[in-house]
Amino acid sequence: MTDQEQIVSALQSIHKRINYACDKAGRPNDEIRLLLATKTVPPERIRIAVNAGETLIGENRVQEYTQKFDAIKDLDCERHFIGHLQTNKIKEVLKYVSCIQSVDNNDLAEKLDVRLQHEGRSIDIFVQVNTSFEESKFGIQPDKAFDLIKRINQLDTLKIKGLMTIGLFSEDELLVKKSYRSLRELRDEAIAKGLLHAHSSELSMGMSNDLEWAIEEGATMVRVGSAVFGKRV
Ligand SMILES: *Cc1c(COP(=O)(O)O)cnc(C)c1O
Repeated sequence: MTDQEQIVSALQSIHKRINYACDKAGRPNDEIRLLLATKTVPPERIRIAVNAGETLIGENRVQEYTQKFDAIKDLDCERHFIGHLQTNKIKEVLKYVSCIQSVDNNDLAEKLDVRLQHEGRSIDIFVQVNTSFEESKFGIQPDKAFDLIKRINQLDTLKIKGLMTIGLFSEDELLVKKSYRSLRELRDEAIAKGLLHAHSSELSMGMSNDLEWAIEEGATMVRVGSAVFGKRV
């Protein structure tokens, strides 16, 4: 199979999985958006996926965006940042993306705001929450999430689109779903408290191995890499 055939066929499988999971959960298919996680994927393979109709990509490292951007900047797609963001990379990342899914602390939010004010623009963000309690993961602790959302709501340049999590890394369906469910419950509670609204209620959760479980628990965006582009080496 050519690269083209491989990627197109993998995308078809992913969309089938998403549709099937939606049917099973009694949700309309158009509630779920697919983000392609393109870390380590060369520009020509990203191009194939976008030409096949995909509209959203996400990178994890600012340095990699810098290296790849020229080769993909003509592509008609939305670009997000989904990795851990160091404050000294803010200026750079803002050149490439319209949304940062990994805002997980006040300092980052405030420094983003300062830079965006300077540039005279605003940006979409997700608040990344650690719902798995694994030490190695980034994301704000759930019990501190409301305070962070309140702070971000005061910053005119940051528009919250929803919440993001990297679920528990496990084969245990109940435990993984529990971590996704806790993000949904946090979102619902934030809405009840008036901290989030209809336009800021997305849930970015679910990856190659567990997107069905995330969709069952309410994901509105799944982030898929290896199931489309193959194992990362
Ligand atoms: C790599 C990555 C993904 C996709 O992971 P796969 O298992 O390859 O689908 C999703 N979200 C984030 C934040 C990632 O870094």
